[in-house]
Amino acid sequence: MLYNNCMERKTERLQDLDIDTFGFEDALEYGFENRGQVVTLNPEMVMNSKKNSELKTIINNAELVIPDGVGIEIGMKILGKKVHRIAGIEYAKAMVKKYWENSLPIALIGAKQEVLELTAANLKKEFAGIKIVYAHNGFFDDEEIIKKSLKLSGAKLALIALGSPKQEQFIYDLKKEMPETLFIGVGGSFDVWSNKVERAPEFYQKAGLEWLYRTVKEPARFKRIFPTLPLFVMRVIKERICKC
Ligand code: UDP
Repeated sequence: MLYNNCMERKTERLQDLDIDTFGFEDALEYGFENRGQVVTLNPEMVMNSKKNSELKTIINNAELVIPDGVGIEIGMKILGKKVHRIAGIEYAKAMVKKYWENSLPIALIGAKQEVLELTAANLKKEFAGIKIVYAHNGFFDDEEIIKKSLKLSGAKLALIALGSPKQEQFIYDLKKEMPETLFIGVGGSFDVWSNKVERAPEFYQKAGLEWLYRTVKEPARFKRIFPTLPLFVMRVIKERICKC
């Protein structure tokens, strides 16, 4: 899957997953040069990969795994390793800019129809002349039709917002058939880009506490984060102790 090997990946291992150590700009460059699958990893996905071996395989076969959020950074710190936290939503936006600057076609798949339409409209406002060659909401019955249409569209950047692990599986199934396309699983990014969901204020973003802000705003998310987050930290502490 690698076309240009100028930059070498350097990964660190956490809970049997390989995670990239690139800073933001290098991760951007690497993704752009090499195509394939970008996974924006969070503790919830790490915990899911324990039960879902297919997800583990997908993550470990991704072309780039960026630590999205403070949880992974903390986990690495516990192991005495360092990675650069990269917000998936910012990475995806910067990549859109790069593809727009290079006049390369983009596809958007996922979220509710209204969210998708607003996202496309807002991207068109922000990046005049952007080539969105395919867009489909994330609630479909026949996945094969969507995959076929995406392939036919010739998109070179595909942002997939189906939530995890659906988006990771969707990308994994397709990436071999579209070797010149870069795929990013972007979770709830369209909800933010459509202005339907507010991003946390900068203070929370910088402190790595965006998840806390979102949980307070949307208490339904509480069930997703707890007990996952403390369990994740406990697992990593165990990993550290067992290796000493
Ligand atoms: N979604 C979708 N199809 C589905 C399930 C979810 O398009 O079958 C969308 C959902 O509308 C939302 C995104 O996937 O826009 C996932 O958001 P979530 O907040 O779960 O992602 P996170 O950022 O927490 O990974």
